[in-house]
Order: sequence, then structure tokens, then C-alpha cells
Amino acid sequence: MIYNRLGKTDLEVSRLGFGTMRLPTKANNADIDKTEASKMLKYAIENGVNIIDTAYPYHSEDLDGNGESEKFLGEFLTENTLRDEIILQTKSPSWAIEEKGDFERYLTEQLEKLQTDHIDIYLLHSLTVPDWEKVKNLDVLDFLDDVLSDGRVKHVGFSSHIEVDYFIEILDEYPKWEVAMTQMNYLDEYYQSGIMGLDYLKDIGVGSMIMEPLRGGRLVQNIPQEIQNLWNQAESKRTPVEWALQYLWNRNDVDCVFSGMTSLEQVRQNIEIASKIDTISDNDQELIREVARTYRTYLGNRCTRCGYCMPCPHGVDIINCFTEYNIAHMMDNPKASAMQYFSLIDEDARADCCVDCGECIPFCTQMINIPEELEKVYEYFGDEFDHF
Ligand code: SF4
Ligand code: SF4
Repeated sequence: MIYNRLGKTDLEVSRLGFGTMRLPTKANNADIDKTEASKMLKYAIENGVNIIDTAYPYHSEDLDGNGESEKFLGEFLTENTLRDEIILQTKSPSWAIEEKGDFERYLTEQLEKLQTDHIDIYLLHSLTVPDWEKVKNLDVLDFLDDVLSDGRVKHVGFSSHIEVDYFIEILDEYPKWEVAMTQMNYLDEYYQSGIMGLDYLKDIGVGSMIMEPLRGGRLVQNIPQEIQNLWNQAESKRTPVEWALQYLWNRNDVDCVFSGMTSLEQVRQNIEIASKIDTISDNDQELIREVARTYRTYLGNRCTRCGYCMPCPHGVDIINCFTEYNIAHMMDNPKASAMQYFSLIDEDARADCCVDCGECIPFCTQMINIPEELEKVYEYFGDEFDHF
């Protein structure tokens, strides 16, 4: 295993982190196959993975409920006396916070579920701009100061899927951030905070953690023949998983990549890849860009996310509605995009809130009939998340 210093912290983290949102399950998403999941975690820790990520809602039956992942992890670490061997990271459900006391209530519950007296890294989970404003007004920064002082939390940060300007704004508002977790893979260089966000993290010494390195598995499953033909032209042959992971580990602004692993075979495979230095040549880097360009030709509409149509007077988040719709087409994965669509876009900003007033149409740089396309987005995703 190869280790990196996490930003300016004193932590040396394995460059592969274990994400526990896609553990093997039995009857439903909340029914973790504990025997299999324990084998996977044991193997990972024995083979050098030293950081495990979970979150309050992981492995709940709905998107933001009280999940089983933390509870399972707490049991696993206690039964195997492994708590002190790993860096434990979990997250405060920022969307669910309604009053000041909720920060404390969730942390207390999480410490109990995880059977520990401290969290090594505590992130505000999936911060959106409105949630950031809300938690700031509820004095989240005082709460973070307090939990750092009393030792229940060792390092604080946040995870987010927001655009780079907001991302930087949040980073600049609190000098004690030590970690930020963002979505990144070779398709997402200019999506959400992307490479500009990573660049900024490196500049200010905040540790960078990556989620969705395989885009929910789509970069490695059902590879279109056209994409495979491109990979076949590479100077060095790699599997799709190797391309996705080594692309990230060839960057000097990535400290840790979390993979949400589902089987022991995946754990073995990822650890093997993480343990080997594999420098990607300039030609192969260009090939990765070509693969990304080709994936983009599978988009649902031509939206370039330029933002000229915004703001919609009726509050529709046109850009992100189209982004999730396009990604779903590009990756042929409605479930993953629906999860993002329903969790990242507020209910009153989704495609069905378009009233067909047509005010945005003249502003579209790509001549898209926006209300018509939003209708397609609505037909595609529906009213609620029901893709489990
Ligand atoms: S047509 Fe729909 S998206 Fe466009 S401005 Fe009107 S309500 Fe907003
Ligand atoms: S103006 Fe058109 S291309 Fe630009 S973000 Fe809006 S819909 Fe997309």
C-alpha cells in the first residue's frame, strides 16, 4: 500500500480508502451481509487500508434515514479490536439539521453507533449552498470548535457536490477545515468543484479526498465497444478499474480515493492497484481525455452548463436538472443519477417545477427548448427516488 500525508494534518492515509455505502446486502439496502462485509474489511485492513469512511444515512432504506453502516462498523471494530488501527471518518447529515441541538444529537448518536469516544475525521455531509447557509446560521462553526476542543472529533471537513466558486467560499470561511471530499474521476474534471477545486485544496493545504472514482461503477461496467476500442490503443494496457484509479493517483492533488466496495474480489483488486506505482504516459493521458470526450457524445441534450438561462424566475435549477439527466444517459445508469437528482436538487427546483413560461428559451446558448427538455427530465426521473 502507498500512503499519503493528508493535507497539513499529521495523518498518513492509505491512498485507497474503504467507503462503506455499498457493502454487500441481503434482503434490502439496510440488511448488510455482515459476514461478507467483515471479511472485506478485515482483508482491507490486513493489507494496508487504514482509513474507513461511513455516514449517518449509509445503508438506510431511504436516502437520508438512520443507516446501518455506522452500526455495523462499530460492531465490527469492537469485535475485532481494530478501532485504534484505523482512521475513522463519518459525517453529520447537514440536510437533516433543523435546530442547534441537532448537531450534538447526531454526533452523540453516531459515537454510540460506532462504539467509540472519538471520530478521527468528521465531515459535514454533502453540503449544498442552502444547507451551508442554514448550518452557519445555526452556529455550526461554534459546534465544530467545541467538538475539536473536547476531543470527540480530531479533524473536521466537509463533503460536497457544489460548484467550484461556492466550494472555495466555504473553504475560505473557516480556517480549521482540514479535509474536503469531492467527486472526481476522469469524466468529472470540470463538473462540480472538479480540478479547480482540487487545485485550491492543494494551495491551502487542505487534505483532498475523492468520492465516486468509478462513477458509481459505470466507468468499469458495460464498457461501450467504442470506448473499449480506444483503450485498446493505449501504450500500456490497463483494466477499466486501473485506468480510473491510476488516473487519480497520477495526480499530485489527490490524497485519498474512496471506493465503495461491494465484494471481496473488488477489495483485492483495488488493493493490488493501489499498491503499485503506475505512471501514465503523456500519450495515455491524452487517450484518457479522448475516452472522456467520447463518453460525452452519449449525452441526452447539448447543455454546456454555461448558466445563461439562470436564474429561472420559478426557481428551477435548470443546469443541474440537465446535468443529472445527461450523466444518466452518458453512463446509462439511471439509478446513480436519480440518487444525485433527488438528493442534490431541492424539491422546489426540480424539472417538474417548470411552468413552461418560456422566459429562459431566448437565453440558451445551445438553442435548447428548455421547458421541453425539462419535461423529458421529469419523465425520466419521475417524482421520487424509487430506484433501489
Ligand atoms: S420555461 Fe421553465 S425553466 Fe424556463 S424560465 Fe420558465 S419555468 Fe423556468
Ligand atoms: S443556457 Fe442552455 S446550455 Fe446554458 S446552462 Fe442553460 S440550458 Fe444549458
